[in-house]
Amino acid sequence: MTTGARSTRALVSRRTSAISSPPLFIRYAWLVEAALLVWGTFALIDLHSTGGDWARLALLAVLALGYEEVGKRLARVQIRLGADLTHDMTSVWGVAAALVLPLGMAPVLLASLGVYGWLRRDRPAGRPLHRSCFNVANAMLTTLITAWALGLLRDATAGLPWTLSRAVPYLVVIVAYALVNRALVTPALLALGARGKDLYGTLHDNLTEFATLCLGGLVAAALLEQPWLAILAIAPMITLQRGALVRELETAASTDAKTGLYNAITWERIAQRELTRAERTQGSTGVIIIDLDRFKLVNDRFGHLAGDQVLRGIGQRLRTEVREYDTVGRFGGEEFVAVLPTASDGDALVVAERLRSRIHDLRISDLVDGVAPENDGRLSVSIGVACSPTDGSELTDLLHSADAALYRAKALGRNRVMLADRGAGGGRDRISAR
Ligand code: GH3
Ligand code: MG
Ligand code: MG
Repeated sequence: MTTGARSTRALVSRRTSAISSPPLFIRYAWLVEAALLVWGTFALIDLHSTGGDWARLALLAVLALGYEEVGKRLARVQIRLGADLTHDMTSVWGVAAALVLPLGMAPVLLASLGVYGWLRRDRPAGRPLHRSCFNVANAMLTTLITAWALGLLRDATAGLPWTLSRAVPYLVVIVAYALVNRALVTPALLALGARGKDLYGTLHDNLTEFATLCLGGLVAAALLEQPWLAILAIAPMITLQRGALVRELETAASTDAKTGLYNAITWERIAQRELTRAERTQGSTGVIIIDLDRFKLVNDRFGHLAGDQVLRGIGQRLRTEVREYDTVGRFGGEEFVAVLPTASDGDALVVAERLRSRIHDLRISDLVDGVAPENDGRLSVSIGVACSPTDGSELTDLLHSADAALYRAKALGRNRVMLADRGAGGGRDRISAR
């Protein structure tokens, strides 16, 4: 994610709704937009420009709008993927504008680009207007603050050797742009529910962001020295954006869109890898299947959209309740699976019992908006547990054993954890508070 990139990413993250935004996000977006309006207006009133500035603004606008046209199909696919922030390359123009344009002129460039991007890219791809507005306002405010910080520094670099005094502004702008953007976008991401990696991005996201900012620096250097060379930035920009799109596609292919968990195929691949590792080291691995109890009734009572909210909420709880190295996936419908590397029977039962009890603590109104108190109710899950090597070392065997245990948990009244049947004596019921 990068500024433009970063903001877009989380704003349309798979883990948040692309259509509705929480009130906290909307309030924060208003705050950023109001700050931009006030400062941008003052900067425009105070604008001192030369003919060269206008020529550079025109050149940057032609390049940026040209890039919008060339890259719009890639960007639309990213937005439709629910992407993840989308390396929309706005920060290339933000960094270049902060370096070569006077303070009041930089936001003009980004505003025109934002309107054009909305018409040609965001609207056709279905991105809500308020999110596009926040992205543009965020990029404009970031550029304003960065250009202002650069202005403060100009006098300080006057005494430096020639080479340093030319290089320092580029470094300062790249670092300041990255920091300011992160500071502005983090509250928005938090308001949208992003946590952990969704908040800070992967190493790849951060490297892409850095590369985008560096390209902005190169565009600025070209504009000052040899303006027509700036067009050479277009090809690397497309390559960067394609790289980001490939990452988005990889993530989409391995993720269950409704819950944000791994989908069944990817989970099975991960679980198989864990089992192979356990076999090599002669360790044990737990596999658990979790099925929501009487989930059909939730759909019947509150509707399928509410049911989806419940599935998403349960998926999130499951992910946060397991250990860091355990992997949770959505197996299908209202069934989830988890693989617990190095877990013995006892460990797996403890984890399963914790999941059961945490979910039983939840009320439907905790996960679904607008549930009237008289309609509220508790949720519960039944869980089947199997463990390698006792119940087999193949994933299929473990899943069969865990599934059979789950069926016994259902037959015994639901809201309980059962360990796989090991022959004599049958499956052992696991205590479960109800
Ligand atoms: P049991 O305690 O026996 O598991 O009862 P149940 O109602 O949970 O099980 P059943 O298999 O009868 O019904 C599963 C329900 O899960 C029916 C189906 O509509 C619902 N379901 C499956 N996938 C989704 C989904 O993606 N979204 C929603 N909202 N409901 C789903
Ligand atoms: Mg069920
Ligand atoms: Mg089921």
